Amino acid sequence: MPDLTGRVALVTGGTRGIGLATVRALVAAGATVVLTGRDESRAKEAAASAGAAAGLALDVTDAKAVSSLVRSVAKEHGKLDIVVANAGIMEDALLGMIREEAVDATLSTNVAGTLHTVQAAARAMMRKKTGAIVVLASIVGEYGSAGQTVYAASKAAVANIAKSAAKELGRSGIRVNAVAPGVIETDLTAGLSEEAKAENAAKTPLGRLGRAEEVANAIRFLVSDEASFVTGQVLGIDGGLVL
Ligand code: NAD
Repeated sequence: MPDLTGRVALVTGGTRGIGLATVRALVAAGATVVLTGRDESRAKEAAASAGAAAGLALDVTDAKAVSSLVRSVAKEHGKLDIVVANAGIMEDALLGMIREEAVDATLSTNVAGTLHTVQAAARAMMRKKTGAIVVLASIVGEYGSAGQTVYAASKAAVANIAKSAAKELGRSGIRVNAVAPGVIETDLTAGLSEEAKAENAAKTPLGRLGRAEEVANAIRFLVSDEASFVTGQVLGIDGGLVL
């Protein structure tokens, strides 16, 4: 396990699933971790259960709130080394059935929310000329997915945020990467039928769905010094699945 002792980290949407597993992985490596969630009491509860330094309320669609929270975390801890822009939502619908509200919510959470987080992180890291950011893309952002046009398009944008921000921030010592999970068993995918899960597992070379901890381990690698020459990459965490 990489050593993150003395590092200060922020994870958005850290109250459950991949976000919470990432908080636990970073804490286990010695980092001081602040997590955020939409609901304050759930954020506090998750922080206490995972050994995080704090659990704060944050809606990532609110650019001003993201900016001021990131600034205050960096101020309180004297710096910010690691940011994981994990918060995201998914609403499946065939093209003809896509709700306008779902388009707005998905793009404002997944694309704008990630962008606000990366922007605020970059501002906070710029002063020390060092930092590592990871954003959450998806396998469907690369291959597309029937019934997931809005979500898949949003995740393609997220992957590009990592690539573009990496180009812009490299000279400031800030690395930006994305992970692109396949099908991971969390609340986000709990709505999939047993049949759909079995079908996905069967198509996956490793023969099963993924666990949140397996994505968290890859994120921990990317934010650590072990990935010191890795930036602008989209790392698939998908058991070899090709859609
Ligand atoms: P999850 O639904 O269990 O967790 C998502 C988290 O994001 C929750 O804590 C939720 O409260 C938070 N969130 C949602 N909207 C928010 C907002 N506006 N402001 C702040 N927080 C908000 O999902 P998960 O499976 O753990 O997914 C985490 C990330 O990984 C998401 O970006 C998701 O798109 C991505 N992802 C998941 C899978 C998968 O199979 N589970 C695959 C690919 C990518």
